[in-house]
Amino acid sequence: PTILAIESSCDETSAAICVDGEILSNNIATQAMHAQYGGVIPELASRAHLQNIVPVVDVALQKAGKGLQDLDAIAFTQSPGLIGSLLVGAEFAKSLSLALHKPLIAVNHMQAHVLANLIPERKPSFPFLCLTVSGGHTQIVLCKAPLQMEIIGETIDDAAGEAFDKCAKLLGLPYPGGPLIDKYAKEGNPDRFQFPEPKAQGYNFSFSGLKTAILYFLMNAGKSQVYKEDFATTDEERKQFIDSNLADICASVQKRIITILLNKFSKAAKDLDVKDICIAGGVSANSGLRKAFTELGEKNNWNTFIPEFQYCTDNAGMIAITAYYKLLDQKFASLDIQPAARGFE
Ligand code: ATP
Ligand code: MG
Ligand code: FE
Repeated sequence: PTILAIESSCDETSAAICVDGEILSNNIATQAMHAQYGGVIPELASRAHLQNIVPVVDVALQKAGKGLQDLDAIAFTQSPGLIGSLLVGAEFAKSLSLALHKPLIAVNHMQAHVLANLIPERKPSFPFLCLTVSGGHTQIVLCKAPLQMEIIGETIDDAAGEAFDKCAKLLGLPYPGGPLIDKYAKEGNPDRFQFPEPKAQGYNFSFSGLKTAILYFLMNAGKSQVYKEDFATTDEERKQFIDSNLADICASVQKRIITILLNKFSKAAKDLDVKDICIAGGVSANSGLRKAFTELGEKNNWNTFIPEFQYCTDNAGMIAITAYYKLLDQKFASLDIQPAARGFE
């Protein structure tokens, strides 16, 4: 079967074509205008989706060498995400489904991030454990079958991507700062500065304390990590401190985020005795995490799986592969289905 999938949950408008579980095209339009505001502005995001969606779908069809008449099903991201953004993809998919008389498939975005690992030919075997690290979520997911997942741990406050972006903002870097921390970290010494490892129960994560620790560290221009009401530095001193130590700060911050993630994840993988481990979500594009994750697998004799870069951050390819498994199970949605900002369909 040939599936057209649409992703519009946040600030990328994306369309993909999947034929019998193989992704033929994965076209992504990223909305650059949010950078100037330091974050995604929901109203602007939905308007940009409206402008982008028709050309983005056209290009996805062209790249795959397919036309509307070839489609057997239309899939879209139903939840979670920004409601105005989700609505654009949902209404587009429903209209096309109605016009072409083809079934509609509703996909959960977080489930799709995990299943990005089923896109390549080399696939993990079930059950596998996945560390999903994105802009809004940080989860350890036990995946027993393509559509059977259990969240066994998650963040109790900020997501890993949020931690990257907030730390980057404190360093004066533009949004989204995660990829920039990755870039500068490559030149830096990860052991130069020590940031605390937060305490969270079980397989859960916490990142808000790290962000605060880094704020105080920068306010003290590296002189101390202890909070003082009256910071003994001037704006100029702090700026100079960041400028002359940027690579080492980025490398140290990145190392701490990675160790927080992998310490919890490896404990879960040992306890559950899984053989195959995966990462997913925007932060799985981080080069330090990809390397540390691979080393963790080698050390413990686990098979590691990491999606290609284009399938880490938001993309319709992952929606399409999830829809493929839903189609095999005949899990179709009715035309009155509504998108939801949170929760499962
Ligand atoms: P969610 O999937 O939870 O709804 P989202 O869709 O906004 O959130 P993604 O698109 O999956 O999130 O990921 C975006 C996040 O990934 C951002 O926080 C961004 O900074 C981070 N990110 C992307 N590339 C890198 C990188 N190389 N290093 C670190 N973080 C990165
Ligand atoms: Mg995005
Ligand atoms: Fe996402």
